Amino acid sequence: MTDKTGKLGFGLMRLPRRGVKIDVAQMSQMVDLFLDAGFTYFDTARVYQGSETATRKALVKRHPRDSFTIATKLNTMIAPTARMARKQFETSCKNLGVDYVDHYLLHNLTNGTYKSYERLGLWDYLLDLKRQGKVRNVGFSFHAGPELLEQVLRAHPEVDFVQLQINYADWENPRITSRANYEVARAHGKPIVIMEPVKGGALAKPASEIRALMDDAAPGASYASWAIRFAAGLDGIMCVLSGMSNVEQMTDNLSYMRDFRPLDAREMAVIQRAREILGNARDIPCTACRYCVEGCPRHILIPGVFAAMNKQLVGGQLAEARADYRAAVDAGNFASACIACGKCEDVCPQNIQIIAQLRECADALEI
Ligand code: SF4
Ligand code: SF4
Repeated sequence: MTDKTGKLGFGLMRLPRRGVKIDVAQMSQMVDLFLDAGFTYFDTARVYQGSETATRKALVKRHPRDSFTIATKLNTMIAPTARMARKQFETSCKNLGVDYVDHYLLHNLTNGTYKSYERLGLWDYLLDLKRQGKVRNVGFSFHAGPELLEQVLRAHPEVDFVQLQINYADWENPRITSRANYEVARAHGKPIVIMEPVKGGALAKPASEIRALMDDAAPGASYASWAIRFAAGLDGIMCVLSGMSNVEQMTDNLSYMRDFRPLDAREMAVIQRAREILGNARDIPCTACRYCVEGCPRHILIPGVFAAMNKQLVGGQLAEARADYRAAVDAGNFASACIACGKCEDVCPQNIQIIAQLRECADALEI
């Protein structure tokens, strides 16, 4: 396992699209730029729609297998039985066009999903795959608090690495606990893959007050660069995953990660001030991952509803928020149709109190 500070990983969740289809031509261009710059880590998952197949086309078919490493993930959200869960590995290999996976993860461990990974015996299954040489390293991606992380790492010291949500906005956020989770992983000596360093894109366009601070301190530097450099400067990092969606974002990421320089004391003071400003933010911190959408019995487009509500919460644009809300619920799937079954909250990586938030959205936006 490597421990090269500043290493960049290509997150393949928010790929460029043409309409609903992934734009494989643009993705191929991004893959080539990434490899040419000396980076090798690609991170996909079974539940990232079309991502594994696009990775086969843009990466696996076009480059020698030993010139890159692939991480993909097994998710019980789409596999409620042990048999279905075990089948996922074969499906992933087929989609990717590979006969081994470099990094295989149990996906999105939360207080709600952890039990199903235990119940289905999937930790042992991962180790079996590793013994057979079909997987090189095993790990898990994690979205809960330090107590559960401690419990998981004590129960499964065999894991090679952990994947954690770490960014400057969530460092002390009590719902995400980036710092506390980072410290637990470090205490167990586990290399860390960082996900969501830009918080689902939110830190690429922070509040105007933060933009002004950053523009003043480093004119011309992208706001995403601050977020990624913060994450990449931490000790013990295997890589920082950036979910790049177009060539422009790839070029920007490479410009400061190729010859990486951690944030200095003056820049860290800017981050600290940005954190204070974000502490007063009122928006719903949804990253539009859509994990909650699949299992909702009322088919509520939860991220669409929250994106609409944020227009009202952040910009006070009530008319626009109501128009976006109407578009999100045009199939009759109103926020007020929620039956409070809790399925969405079990899988939400951001630990959002979705039921309560939907009630507020319904009150504000349904007229
Ligand atoms: S709690 Fe409401 S929004 Fe969440 S899955 Fe159940 S019905 Fe859908
Ligand atoms: S509410 Fe949570 S699970 Fe649903 S899209 Fe937003 S962040 Fe993802």
